[in-house]
Amino acid sequence: MSFDVIVVGAGPAGAAIAILLAERGLRILVLDRARFPRPKICGEYLSPETLRILDRLGVLKAVDDAGATPLAGMRISAPDGTAVTGTYRTIGPWRPYRNHALALRREVLDAILVDRVRALGAELRERTRVTDVLVADGHAVGVEAMDAETRVHVFRAPLVVAADGRGSVVARRLGLLRAHPLQRMALVTYVRGVSDCREVGEIFVDPPDYAILNPVAPDRVNMSVVVPLAHAAAWSHRLEDFFAARVSQMPHLARRVAGAERVAPVQAMGPLAYDVAPPTIGGLLLVGDAAGFYDPLTGEGVFSALHGAELASEVAAAALKAGECSAERLATYQRARRRTFAAKARFTHALQFVVAHRRLANLTAHLLVKRPALLDLLLGVVGDYVPPGLLLHPARFG
Ligand SMILES: Cc1cc2nc3c(=O)[nH]c(=O)nc-3n(C[C@H](O)[C@H](O)[C@H](O)COP(=O)(O)OP(=O)(O)OC[C@H]3O[C@@H](n4cnc5c(N)ncnc54)[C@H](O)[C@@H]3O)c2cc1C
Repeated sequence: MSFDVIVVGAGPAGAAIAILLAERGLRILVLDRARFPRPKICGEYLSPETLRILDRLGVLKAVDDAGATPLAGMRISAPDGTAVTGTYRTIGPWRPYRNHALALRREVLDAILVDRVRALGAELRERTRVTDVLVADGHAVGVEAMDAETRVHVFRAPLVVAADGRGSVVARRLGLLRAHPLQRMALVTYVRGVSDCREVGEIFVDPPDYAILNPVAPDRVNMSVVVPLAHAAAWSHRLEDFFAARVSQMPHLARRVAGAERVAPVQAMGPLAYDVAPPTIGGLLLVGDAAGFYDPLTGEGVFSALHGAELASEVAAAALKAGECSAERLATYQRARRRTFAAKARFTHALQFVVAHRRLANLTAHLLVKRPALLDLLLGVVGDYVPPGLLLHPARFG
């Protein structure tokens, strides 16, 4: 069978673009090295605007039925213990898709998306690892892949979508991956027995670390601690000890989880941030983490993966219809990405600066205690439904 598009990776980015293009009647092949359901290291927070796209993809009902936890807002604790709680609410004309975010295990979310890919008739080949991207005359023309029985396959299509996440083999083979100066590591586990952890997510800022509690299921809280990579390096064989030590150094977090019990091994991932240069060849689009990643603090990774797939699907469908997947034509997608994500990226960089400086983090928390409307505005930006530019005019909305 011949295909219009090969999608490498069936995580949120790959599944979303496969769904959107299959809905347009295109013939899609999706390849993933994993077999679903598969685990994924993640804070497992889904912003309110993510829910809009999940609905568009036809999976929000399944997400609800799977028992996703509605989160009315976020509680943020500063280094000195000052705590503020913001809610997702309408800010001027900007309304959250629902007045809550969601917490859901990625194993569950990603399997729901993959089921939708299958239901729409796209061909999904699991346990098939893409090993190379085939390039001819300045064009990606297909991929080479190996199945679980180590058989090598070559698949060809006029368009290849790299959605193979961090360390994307496609980005690596084309020399597009770049190291990032922000060198951090995440330690992620599940705990149970955290009292009253059900209605909001909780962020603990304690430079140089921060931690997030996210209630993904009844009495199961995703606990993520982000630390400087250099601090973790010597502990790579004693992650559990390092995790416990780090938690005990964050007094407000330690008090919050006192008496709670860890119910899963600690998993580590780092360095978290990296850049990916835009491709210069035709026939290729990069979506989701394959196009770069910064930091999980503001929890927009899944949103960016899904929204990036929306943007890419428009450009891909038009290019395929015109029979021309040239680099120039596909560069429209890169421009749309920049326009769409640049302001939030500036916001998250500024926020990183605040959470990295104890005094500044405390002062910001003191200000937000006095200005709860500003906190809700901030949460609207974090939740992806309020334009970050509004923070420059807080008097109007915050
Ligand atoms: C510690 C941490 C916490 C985070 N917390 C949050 C959060 O709370 N909320 C949020 O929205 N985002 C969060 N993120 C970001 C989020 O996890 C990612 O942005 C999101 O998973 C990106 O989706 P994706 O589809 O691009 O990549 P992935 O979800 O990584 O999917 C990539 C897929 O490609 C497959 N693949 C990889 N290589 C190959 C290959 N060679 N051949 C075939 N298949 C391949 C993989 O098996 C996988 O299924 C977090 C990230 C980290 C590191």
